Amino acid sequence: MLGLMQNQPLLISSLIEFAARHHGDAQIVSRRVEGDIHRYTYKEAARRSRQVAHALDGLGLNFSDRVATLAWNGYRHFELYYGVSGSGRVLHTLNPRLHPEQIAWIANHAEDQVLCFELSFLPLVQAFHGKCPTIKHYIALCDADKLPVDSGIPNLQSYEGWISAQPDTYDWPVFDENTASSMCYTSGTTGHPKAALYSHRSSTLHAYAAALPDVMGISARDAVLPVVPMFHVNAWGIPYSGPLTGAKLVFPGPALDGKSVYELIEAEKVTYAAGVPTIWQMLLTHVKSAGLRFSTLRRTVIGGAACPPFMIQAFSDDYGVEVLHAWGMTEMSPLGTLCTLKNKHDSLTEDEKMKIRLKQGRAIYGVDMKIVDGAGKELPWDGKTYGDLMVKGPWIIREYYKGDSDPLVDGWFPTGDVATIDADGYMQITDRSKDVIKSGGEWISSIDIENIAVAHPAILMAACIGVAHPKWDERPIIAVVKKPGMDVSREELLKFYEGKTAKWQIPDDVVFVDAIPMGATGKMLKTRLREMLKDYKLPQS
Ligand code: ADP
Repeated sequence: MLGLMQNQPLLISSLIEFAARHHGDAQIVSRRVEGDIHRYTYKEAARRSRQVAHALDGLGLNFSDRVATLAWNGYRHFELYYGVSGSGRVLHTLNPRLHPEQIAWIANHAEDQVLCFELSFLPLVQAFHGKCPTIKHYIALCDADKLPVDSGIPNLQSYEGWISAQPDTYDWPVFDENTASSMCYTSGTTGHPKAALYSHRSSTLHAYAAALPDVMGISARDAVLPVVPMFHVNAWGIPYSGPLTGAKLVFPGPALDGKSVYELIEAEKVTYAAGVPTIWQMLLTHVKSAGLRFSTLRRTVIGGAACPPFMIQAFSDDYGVEVLHAWGMTEMSPLGTLCTLKNKHDSLTEDEKMKIRLKQGRAIYGVDMKIVDGAGKELPWDGKTYGDLMVKGPWIIREYYKGDSDPLVDGWFPTGDVATIDADGYMQITDRSKDVIKSGGEWISSIDIENIAVAHPAILMAACIGVAHPKWDERPIIAVVKKPGMDVSREELLKFYEGKTAKWQIPDDVVFVDAIPMGATGKMLKTRLREMLKDYKLPQS
């Protein structure tokens, strides 16, 4: 017997219409590329999203055609999220930090038909557009009078000119909720980019889950600042969870330095922010050096890379801001786990609580996870045994877009991460399987070694990699960037490790570098670091 409830597909258009109807006056605030602040409401955002849908129809696009963006976090990008997906096309968020060749490769692979780009990216578009034969229409995200003449870009229109004359009512089409809604290519830290193709169903379910109290805990009373870019995994779903809850959204545009982010947090009374550790490092450095306080910020979600303990400590002890450590992947929409404590942890000491907060957290309902050994056998949840982390669920990838092989193993997606899971279900990433250092048959977590280095007051950034060793197979070395004006010697730093980790895990050497290569999503690029240090020789011991 089937249930007798209404069978309504979960469609992205319903999110913006819900927000327009129930949270019509909630604000969306954006710092624009021009530097000024733009402010409007969900009601107006919905109206303009409908105009976008009409404008896309006007280009004669077919159902599921790809519409690409090269844009920061801002209101026009937000309107495209709804106008493109809502009208049945696929939003393809391109990462502007990639090399023009890579962008062209990705746009060709996706067969993008339209490219909407921030005017500040004009030189970038000029560098690759000739290599992208599928792109027929170029839209500059600007006012009609700002459209450059002689840009060399064919069929270039301004966004405002393109949508302004369009009607602001639109009958959003109703279709199968499994229809593709958006796509994102992996950032390529681990090889050739591959695309995750999200659906209306997966995105909507993920938006519900993301808003839950023990996940991102977003409500109509929050002002949410996604520093995490809308061009990478849909800004962790915040552009969908915002309308679903009626939270105020605050978009930082291109200004991601500590000072600009701090000013926006204060001016817009942000209660909640989300981003990768490198961004928060810049914010903390600014706030500390200028002797500032946060007046409204209560929580930050930090994920995308391991959050070092000093960061959790600094936010909570010095500024009263709770850090929620999160883990996820492009292939997972992206949220997998979030670290919030349970009642049973109330009686623990601060040190014991910190040990839990450092973990990547508990699985969200909708994500099933397990750890397995090399033979695929499930390993115990004892917080000590580590194995390959596998996941499955309705917002986790089944297949890559135009992917040639089935990435699943018995229905589970192998994350490429090595992790432990404790008896309470808290998962902790030991390392990426490619980054883990195998020394004498034992594994060393590069994350642990890095966390110790960045806890040293003179160290700004640290990356640990394995170097071939004749006896131990591999030994860890640590590449570090010193804070400006601070100094520490190799010996002092190695001494700093004593008592903080097992002796055999202490790096064999310290390499001082000016910068650690960063990938397009703000993560350390260890592949590039390994190339940089390819002639490096371990000291003779
Ligand atoms: P890429 O495109 O670089 O493969 P994603 O942005 O999809 O990357 O990143 C996913 C990977 O980032 C995870 O598999 C994991 O290795 C790492 N990661 C994400 N969040 C965390 C975290 N909180 N702690 C440690 N590693 C993390």
